[in-house]
Amino acid sequence: MNIKTNNNDLKDEISLVTGASRGIGASIADLFGQQGSIVIGTATSQEGADKITKRFLDMEIEGHGIVLDVSESSQISQSLKKLKEDNLMPSILVNNAGISLESLFMRIKDEDWHRVMETNLSSIFYLSKGVISSMLKKRHGKIINIGSVIGNTGAIGNAHYSAAKSGLIGLTKSLAKEVGSRGITVNVIAPGYISTDMTKDISDELNKTMMNNIPLKRFGKPEDIAKAALYLASSAGSYITGQTLHVNGGMHME
Ligand code: NAP
Repeated sequence: MNIKTNNNDLKDEISLVTGASRGIGASIADLFGQQGSIVIGTATSQEGADKITKRFLDMEIEGHGIVLDVSESSQISQSLKKLKEDNLMPSILVNNAGISLESLFMRIKDEDWHRVMETNLSSIFYLSKGVISSMLKKRHGKIINIGSVIGNTGAIGNAHYSAAKSGLIGLTKSLAKEVGSRGITVNVIAPGYISTDMTKDISDELNKTMMNNIPLKRFGKPEDIAKAALYLASSAGSYITGQTLHVNGGMHME
């Protein structure tokens, strides 16, 4: 992904982007790096982390990949401890990592409910809690949580996913109220249908139905979300907090 930009909007920032190995997270990490931020990108495997590091090297982005399972609070504490020791505590946190384990409500297993909650919602609590004191001290910080249009609309087969994505909106608003006076903004980006691994197995029939409901007549690209994230992370978005920015081609209008 190579979005042409002319600015150095994120110079002096350190960004931690979860799920930066592919899809939306990779696009956000790359764009932030191109805008002058040091970027730490996470993946669930060493292979994924190495791929991030190599990608950054190829793009002349300062930063590297790390292994982190965001559903494990102990791994988050360890990773943040290491970043602190290396003077790399983030001034920008993008909580992007997420999973969707599609299943009709009656068939959702307890363990899948908890896995979706831990990965898509609790991780945001753990990571935000881990970085917030450093942001408070510096009186500067941006937290961007990647939600979903489904957090507002609901969707068949996604009760657990939509519960987590709705939940992060409440978390975002509350935290935004608590830390706004210290120069920290907290916002949600709610993507619509974006072409990534997460959506690649959707049937042609459902794709067609969804396209009929998108006024802009195309599925989103990871870069569409990355540009919205850059807006919120840069000085352009400095007076925006506690909001949900819908990036969905018009498929859902608030
Ligand atoms: P994706 O292509 O499936 O990529 C998911 C990313 O999350 C990967 O980097 C993956 O790492 C990481 N990840 C998964 N489980 C993790 C865990 N337990 N700990 C740490 N990282 C983990 O997904 P995507 O489409 O880019 O989605 C990114 C975010 O956007 C998600 O929060 C998703 O809910 C949201 N979203 C996507 C769409 C869409 O249409 N695509 C729409 C609305 C919202 P590995 O590579 O190591 O597995």
